[in-house]
Amino acid sequence: MSENYYEFTLIPLPYDYGALEPYISTQTMQVHHDRLLKAYVEKLNGALSTYPSLQKLSLEQLLGNTCAIPASIRTSIVNFGGGVYNHNFFFASLRAGTSENKPVGSLASTIDHHFGSFAEFKKAFKEKALSVFGSGWMWLVKDRKGGLLLEQTANQNTPISLGHRPLLVIDVWEHAYFLQYLNLRADYIDNWFNVINWERADALFGMT
Ligand code: MN
Repeated sequence: MSENYYEFTLIPLPYDYGALEPYISTQTMQVHHDRLLKAYVEKLNGALSTYPSLQKLSLEQLLGNTCAIPASIRTSIVNFGGGVYNHNFFFASLRAGTSENKPVGSLASTIDHHFGSFAEFKKAFKEKALSVFGSGWMWLVKDRKGGLLLEQTANQNTPISLGHRPLLVIDVWEHAYFLQYLNLRADYIDNWFNVINWERADALFGMT
């Protein structure tokens, strides 16, 4: 019934491949979703194929309790399951862009309170996203106490394994921007701010 249980499926983008132009190119979205995410889905299903007891678990349950996964496939589940979870979250957190894009609702006021202003938040987020070494992700999460936290994860690691609730994420693996931006990660980050779906982030922030 749900895409969130084995066998996992390639969830379609919630918008057209070109919807994020000019900030994220059609070709980037096609390669990223149809080739890279598809490969993660297939490898995750392959890793789980001989473990029926794990097939009843959702991706969140698997990644939220990685100690319970048999050691022989734990790394595969962390890498491929994380790859599926992180990409699904990333694609769902974007929408058609505008340079006026800014936070809304209680998340907006909490960002102002925590970081001083939206401009200060952007500065801090961008600095941390630029400093992710190698392949990884840069997140805004809600921590266990309900506060905001900027969090980097390496490879396909995910904040839900740390008990944190993701609100926003940018994929800073080179494959996420190289076709369009070459090595200019800073330009990619600047333009990513234009395509954030802040309504979704605010709804996630407000969930109890
Ligand atoms: Mn990616």
